[in-house]
Amino acid sequence: MAKIQMKTPIVEMDGDEMTRVLWQWIKEDLILPYVDLKTEYYDLGLPERDRTEDAVTVAAAEANRRLGVGVKCATITPNAQRVEEYKLKKMWKSPNGTIRRILDGTVFRAPILAKGITPYIPGWKKPIVLARHAYGDVYAGVETRAAAGDKAYLLVEGENGEVKEKLLIHDFARGGGIVQSVHNLDASIASFARSCFNYALDLKMPLWFATKDTISKTYDHRFKDIFAEIFEKEYKEKFAAAGIEYMYTLIDDAVARIVRSEGGVLWACKNYDGDVMSDMVATAYGSLGMMTSVLVSPEGNYEFEAAHGTVTRHYYKHLKGEETSTNSVATIFAWTGALAKRGELDGIPTLTEFAKKLERSTVETIESGEMTGDLVPLFRAEGVQPKKLNSREFLLAVKKRLEA
Ligand code: NAP
Ligand code: MG
Repeated sequence: MAKIQMKTPIVEMDGDEMTRVLWQWIKEDLILPYVDLKTEYYDLGLPERDRTEDAVTVAAAEANRRLGVGVKCATITPNAQRVEEYKLKKMWKSPNGTIRRILDGTVFRAPILAKGITPYIPGWKKPIVLARHAYGDVYAGVETRAAAGDKAYLLVEGENGEVKEKLLIHDFARGGGIVQSVHNLDASIASFARSCFNYALDLKMPLWFATKDTISKTYDHRFKDIFAEIFEKEYKEKFAAAGIEYMYTLIDDAVARIVRSEGGVLWACKNYDGDVMSDMVATAYGSLGMMTSVLVSPEGNYEFEAAHGTVTRHYYKHLKGEETSTNSVATIFAWTGALAKRGELDGIPTLTEFAKKLERSTVETIESGEMTGDLVPLFRAEGVQPKKLNSREFLLAVKKRLEA
């Protein structure tokens, strides 16, 4: 059979440890035999980031901006122990942080569902996709302690240093305590809103957004207003045409609705809500190895990856020549996400269809009872006995199904 031809290359960002091993196997077993793969390759493995003083990460992010679609392998974010282990020149920053800064995007996370892997919330039949605003709030907060007798103020100065506003936060007359201040930017909230509206249209999923504007009448209310204005002006008709809705509600109401829902919702969260709720959603669906992540920029650039890390513990076993049973599903879906998007943007339906077929084969392999060790204890399907495969065996089982 002739291989599927591509037009524009995908930006390929290689990574570290066990996921770097899976990366190679996924390409060899599941992509290269079927697609005449065109990529612009960047090695984001830690040794190369160190050698190039992290220039390779910046180059990869810029390539992603230029070419529109990238796929990234998990990478080590170095800490003190990694500096020692890899004899690094410096404790390089998180590559994901660097890429996010350059693309200015929103991170969307979605679980991959397979029959037999039952979510802890059994009513969830469809994926809940979570969008997390990745700028500001408490992550860029300023905080301090106040002693008894102190007064804390919120002070806003104009361009020339004139005091425009001075609001008493608290008079600590009756005892010491703590103070915190946070900020956000209209432009960042607007780009978050547009990313969410665009992604909802892409997925044809309703969008829910929630804050606590009843309590935070200026700060959270600004989020609500910016979303509402942009929706009215730019997206209302597109949503109606796609048959989906945008709903704004309070965060506590949203949590209750999410638990009661059957899924099939794009849930936009402020930074802290997204941080907390994405771990809750990922865990409730079953396994870290089954969660995809995509960074979507307001300019329409996409970067696909798995939500998990480099699975270090498995890699050390692999180095000792021991077998591992590492789940490659989220990394496979990072590749299929990128291939499908490339096919869509370049008008190559066969490429998009191939990606969808590979996704179905992957899920069906699990549904038929063949899976990696992390899924075995979660699997319950009548008449199907789960079988634990090693990392490579799982990929070969998917390949067999893809070819059948
Ligand atoms: P991790 O790599 O996600 O692994 C944590 C544990 O979760 C593993 O030890 C394993 O549990 C389980 N697990 C995760 N993914 C799995 C998979 N695909 N298949 C089977 N089990 C899986 O997180 P970490 O150990 O905290 O971090 C390791 C490195 O990854 C760090 O250097 C960190 O900086 C990096 N990291 C990168 C990214 C990214 O690039 N996006 C994200 C997070 C972390 P068992 O050991 O019990 O089998
Ligand atoms: Mg978190």
